[in-house]
Amino acid sequence: MELLGGAGPDQAAAVRIGDRVLSRGELLHWASAVAAEIQGAPAVAVHATASAETVAAVLGGLLAGVPVVPLPPDSGPAERAHILGDSGARLLLAARGAYEPGEEDPPLVPVDALPRDGALAHAEPSPDATALILYTSGTTGPPKGVLISRAAIAAGLDALAEAWAWTAADTVVHGLPLFHVHGLVLGVLGPLRVGSPLVHTVRPHPEAYAAAGGSLYFGVPTVWSRIAADPAAAGALRGARLLVSGSAPLPVPVFERLEARSGHRPIERYGMTETLITVSTRADGERRPGHVGLPLPGVETRLAAEDGAPVAHDGETPGELHVRAPMMFGGYLGRPDATAAAFTPDGWFRTGDIAVIGPDGWHRVVGRASTDLIKSGGYRIGAGEVENALLAHPAVREAAVVGTPHADLGEQVTAYVVADGAGADELIAFVAATLSAHKRPREVRLVESLPRNAMGKVVKSRLG
Ligand code: ATP
Ligand code: MG
Repeated sequence: MELLGGAGPDQAAAVRIGDRVLSRGELLHWASAVAAEIQGAPAVAVHATASAETVAAVLGGLLAGVPVVPLPPDSGPAERAHILGDSGARLLLAARGAYEPGEEDPPLVPVDALPRDGALAHAEPSPDATALILYTSGTTGPPKGVLISRAAIAAGLDALAEAWAWTAADTVVHGLPLFHVHGLVLGVLGPLRVGSPLVHTVRPHPEAYAAAGGSLYFGVPTVWSRIAADPAAAGALRGARLLVSGSAPLPVPVFERLEARSGHRPIERYGMTETLITVSTRADGERRPGHVGLPLPGVETRLAAEDGAPVAHDGETPGELHVRAPMMFGGYLGRPDATAAAFTPDGWFRTGDIAVIGPDGWHRVVGRASTDLIKSGGYRIGAGEVENALLAHPAVREAAVVGTPHADLGEQVTAYVVADGAGADELIAFVAATLSAHKRPREVRLVESLPRNAMGKVVKSRLG
């Protein structure tokens, strides 16, 4: 299959998930059996546990040219009903016993029970055909179904391979969930297209990363934060080639701790379900804490003000990040109005993220326009800068900063902090040494934990 690099079934690169190891040939035979079962369906859902069944089911969809809708395995009845109903999936692929079917579910195809000795499927749908319908993380609202074509996946992966000098000589390691761009597109289709072996650790535990012995490691910031806090795990990654962070901002103090303990300055990359990955530091270039790097090959970016006027790329002025890229999505499923609203009249995708671009083209993501830009007393304050200042305190484990209503200021800076033994006043005094007065939190609320979704992103609407 061209999308998977066109390599034959005998190529050695294997997928290891937990204790199971499958050669590429075994996987393609299994996927061909899946393809035969689902031929002609308008779309199929996959109960996307971190398992070999999920990999075989997704590849089966790609072989059959049937759009695949990964279903988060821990989704509650409402989310499951939303995704199944919204996507129009007519079959549900799952391992027997791993899935408890609901009454309204489409018929189940037991992926683990299919015979795997048939002929290899060879469908080669058009590059524009929808390969995946991925639901966004739901950080700012109900998850939206994002149509992703084969061409977008191929373009996105090839651009990453170039930027990271990623080849078949790499062994990829991660323990990410298999129902979002990060774990599924980069984390599974990436190794298969490039031809690198994949070690999926099932869970992103520091010990599992440390024991995997790979070269190219993927993780979300919460994973890197745990590894940076674990000297043995971080030290075990010294022999790796690249540690890559994405899906959410990597706090500067975590970058620095990770470097001190692993010897690696991590690669950071930015993207979203709609655009896959579009901005990244390069393997052979500089790495700057707090920055996500340069546009990938073939990607164009610009900044715009709220009224759409251009914003200078001066390294200081924030604006909404707009993207034009070959790895662009084909629209939100069943939501033509939302799709149209997501693009400017001249065809740029509005990311909804606020960024700063330097004269040298380097990008810094300030946060989301909807939750991370605090408008206080005439100032515009990026939540991330305040979060980084708090995280630099040794007792602070996690921090999330939001704007809350304030009679005079409009909004005030309010911080939610998970800390070991530091009080609110001490933390406010600590950040006063590094932040200008208007950026200092007026209030620090100490909490047990922060509300996070499956990608480890803080869901700010659930704070409080
Ligand atoms: P929803 O769209 O449903 O609210 P979501 O935007 O979190 O959820 P995704 O498409 O998984 O869903 O995430 C993309 C977003 O994640 C980006 O728009 C950006 O806000 C954030 N993001 C991704 N990578 C980075 C990064 N390296 N630094 C900062 N933010 C990042
Ligand atoms: Mg989004």
